[in-house]
Amino acid sequence: MKALEPLLFELARPGRSGGHVRADGSAEIPTSFARRAPLRLPELTEPQVVRHYTHLAQLNYAVDTGMYPLGSCTMKYNPKVNDRVAGLFADLHPRQSYRLTQGVLALAYELEQMLVKITGMDFVSLQPAAGAQSEFTALLVFKAYHAKRGQAAQRRRIIVPDSAHGTNPASAAMCGYEVTTVKSDARGNVDLEALRAALGPDVAGFMLTNPNTLGLFEERVREVCDAVHRAGGLVYGDGANMNALLGIARPGDLGFDCVHINVHKTFSTPHGAGGPGAGPLCVKAHLRPFLPKPWIVREADGSYHYDTAREDRDPETVGDSIGTIKQRLGNFGVLARAYTYMKSLGDEGLVETSEDAILAANYLLARLRPTYQVAYDRTPMHEFVLTAAPQKKKGASALDIAKGLIDEGFHPPSVYFPLIVAEAMMVEPTETEPKETLDAFAEAMLRVAERAGTDPESLHQAPLRAPLRRLDEVSAARKPVLKWKLPS
Ligand SMILES: *Cc1c(COP(=O)(O)O)cnc(C)c1O
Repeated sequence: MKALEPLLFELARPGRSGGHVRADGSAEIPTSFARRAPLRLPELTEPQVVRHYTHLAQLNYAVDTGMYPLGSCTMKYNPKVNDRVAGLFADLHPRQSYRLTQGVLALAYELEQMLVKITGMDFVSLQPAAGAQSEFTALLVFKAYHAKRGQAAQRRRIIVPDSAHGTNPASAAMCGYEVTTVKSDARGNVDLEALRAALGPDVAGFMLTNPNTLGLFEERVREVCDAVHRAGGLVYGDGANMNALLGIARPGDLGFDCVHINVHKTFSTPHGAGGPGAGPLCVKAHLRPFLPKPWIVREADGSYHYDTAREDRDPETVGDSIGTIKQRLGNFGVLARAYTYMKSLGDEGLVETSEDAILAANYLLARLRPTYQVAYDRTPMHEFVLTAAPQKKKGASALDIAKGLIDEGFHPPSVYFPLIVAEAMMVEPTETEPKETLDAFAEAMLRVAERAGTDPESLHQAPLRAPLRRLDEVSAARKPVLKWKLPS
């Protein structure tokens, strides 16, 4: 495949330099540490380097350049003030003494309290650095909880719905659990009878996303949680879809024992391609002793410090913590952004966020429903799932429609997820798009559907207007080329 942009190494010419550091400083480096041969770095001027990276950035589609209706991932606009605040902490070292970082601990502690209020849980660990890591953490917590009751060996199964995000079964498997899948019913809920049949004394827990990955609120969530609890299991809430629930419903009131928050999604950190993220784990009191250490503790005099396992003074629970998952406060820059986002919106602003996200999804669905088929036609929350099965019959698959949307100037929705919907297209417009953008996206979707009906062949060629055409995604994932080799 032809490289898109010349690499820096290819632009380089011997003797060019963008550096303005005077060479005489080198005398201060002891000769034993000094490099004997020059580094084989490309030689370029400063503007060449700046232009190179700016061009690369311009090839990217980003939430700062257009609507990004990726279902399940909540790619909403991230206010820039968040970055300003996160920048204040750029010099923070994870091992800096708590005496010198009282403000940092205060921010983290307050953020924990805000998450307690939003989720209806009792305690929070800010450590996990992503949703998936928080799932992993929670399942270790489940294991420690059952071990404390002498049931760790017996409870070796985790149940997940068939609509679950792939990280759910993967996290369970990484924790050494066997995974049982339960099907969804005709309305897109967990099939309660199938769940009851799957429950037993060997079940450690159940993982549930609400609203689920069909964008639908689980109508019998309380009954689901009760059934799991009666079997002695714990209920894990995948809170990646919290964007629909802020100030409207709290997982803690719905029966969940814990929930993770995808801070980078709901509380706005620019993310993609694997990071950066934070996945605070919020738990009910009975799971607190097992949370990762250290904890942030607020003393009576208003000062903060770290409570490590060694300082745990309660003989009942000392040593119950699963240990450290990530250093100290976790991914602090992302947490600082979440704090700023929540503080700037306030309680009412957060409720409005979810209400607007739900309104945007329902508006968009109303515009698309006459043309596209809806997978489970109920009132969705903040996202909805279409199926391109009718278009596929005419010769254009969900993938072809997605590629056609790129030529229309839009990032496509998620496709082929959730797995239970054939030719799935999952759309999450988010609350940050104005009506004009929603209309423009709807019209683009309708134009592509029209093409799927009249000229599906043309969609097989799409995208024509992107820097690259159709990529070999399988090879890119299986055999990534991550290193440029010097020509010998
Ligand atoms: C994004 C997502 C996850 C995983 O979160 P990461 O932070 O990407 O690890 C899990 N579940 C659902 C429903 C998600 O949308």
